[in-house]
Amino acid sequence: MASYQTIIGLEIHVELKTRSKMFCACSADCFAHEPNTHVCPVCLGLPGALPVINKKAVEKTILAGLALNCQIPLFSKFDRKNYFYPDLPKGYQISQYDLPFCLKGNLEKIRIRRVHLEEDTAKLIHVAVDNKESTLIDFNRSGMPLMEIVTEPDFKSSQEAKKFLKKLQQILRYLDLSDCDMEKGSMRLEANVSVGNVGKGNGALPNYKVEIKNLNSFRFLEKAVDYETKRQIELLKKGKQPDQETRGWNETKQETYLQRRKEEAEDYRYFPEPDLPPIRWSQKELLMIKKQLLELPREKRSRFSKDYQLTDYQSQILIQTKAKADYFEKAVKAGKKSKIEPKEIANVIINKKVNLEKILPDELIQTLVKAKTKMVIKGKKLEEIVNQILEENKKAVEDYQKGKVNAVEFLVGQISRETKGRADPNQTRKILLEKLKKVK
Ligand code: ADP
Ligand code: MG
Ligand code: ZN
Repeated sequence: MASYQTIIGLEIHVELKTRSKMFCACSADCFAHEPNTHVCPVCLGLPGALPVINKKAVEKTILAGLALNCQIPLFSKFDRKNYFYPDLPKGYQISQYDLPFCLKGNLEKIRIRRVHLEEDTAKLIHVAVDNKESTLIDFNRSGMPLMEIVTEPDFKSSQEAKKFLKKLQQILRYLDLSDCDMEKGSMRLEANVSVGNVGKGNGALPNYKVEIKNLNSFRFLEKAVDYETKRQIELLKKGKQPDQETRGWNETKQETYLQRRKEEAEDYRYFPEPDLPPIRWSQKELLMIKKQLLELPREKRSRFSKDYQLTDYQSQILIQTKAKADYFEKAVKAGKKSKIEPKEIANVIINKKVNLEKILPDELIQTLVKAKTKMVIKGKKLEEIVNQILEENKKAVEDYQKGKVNAVEFLVGQISRETKGRADPNQTRKILLEKLKKVK
């Protein structure tokens, strides 16, 4: 019997966090604003307007590439990708074709084919105007820096792809490269899916693939890939080869639907962007960018477990976001003087769900210290307990009077048991010895 293997490759678009857009001085903080208020001749695509490269966006792309263990070629360039669609009035998108900024990386076992930089397009909004179906265009998003990460077809299940995406999202957020907010569209996914016949052939990739576009949540990606796997297996079982095509995900119907076939595949007529100079890096410049590469989640996790004697579970929770990890380490520092153990701090942050935005690390330590001193039993209360223990252990008291010094240790142990270890140790001994003398 034939058995089938899903093969998945991902293309991930990420809007970079920069102050200005990719090729103009328009503010990149344009999402929550009125449509078409953050625009200029460059990002409106007006004839004759000239682009200027946003250096910060390029550096962020290199940083992402370095975090994904990519090679950074010393020579790179932008290209024009020509196509005609209302979201792109100048008729081409400035992107990168054969010489992207980053090549051949990996995130754990998944190989990264390339990371390149391009400009985002305008946003089309489909609404009824005067009872007529219409499309409005918002150019605020046009020209936003957009990074694309392309993986090799290395995933064997939708869950594996989802796991990878979560890790990727975490890394990009750690480095503050992007919000990676799926709802706002600052992270957008495409999945390429094919099904191979295990045991048949030589392990080569199937000679078709189906691209599922516009998946705007990890869950949709999972469902769309699973649906597509089933659909393709059914075709293969009937002896049919699935067509190479582009499909979308219909969340209402819970199925993928055909968008366009291979026959209609566009020819983008790529050519080097004549209005922008190519980019050459010196090793020194690349080294400067590399210096911005902070400790990434995986390394932080093992360091936390090792340095603070946390369980892997605790470390994993604490490193979820960089803010949380930083908070924990600040608290550890603040707790050192008061002998508050890292383990204790980790427990409180994880189990008591501390509001990290409201309580400062110092304040957290103060409350922990207070709670501890409140818990210690001393003074009158301790005296009462000592009396009670002496009353209950007449035999030990007699032993002590007969010269058995060890009886004191026994009584201390009883007090400790009674107070569940909360008795102030110095005071316990002092009070106990005084009382034993008096009994005499
Ligand atoms: P195109 O030339 O159409 O852009 P590529 O070969 O460059 O196609 O790959 C685009 C994406 O599709 C990559 O993420 C890649 O991993 C993925 N891919 C390629 N071949 C397959 C396949 N047989 N099954 C699933 N994904 C694939
Ligand atoms: Mg594609
Ligand atoms: Zn602009």
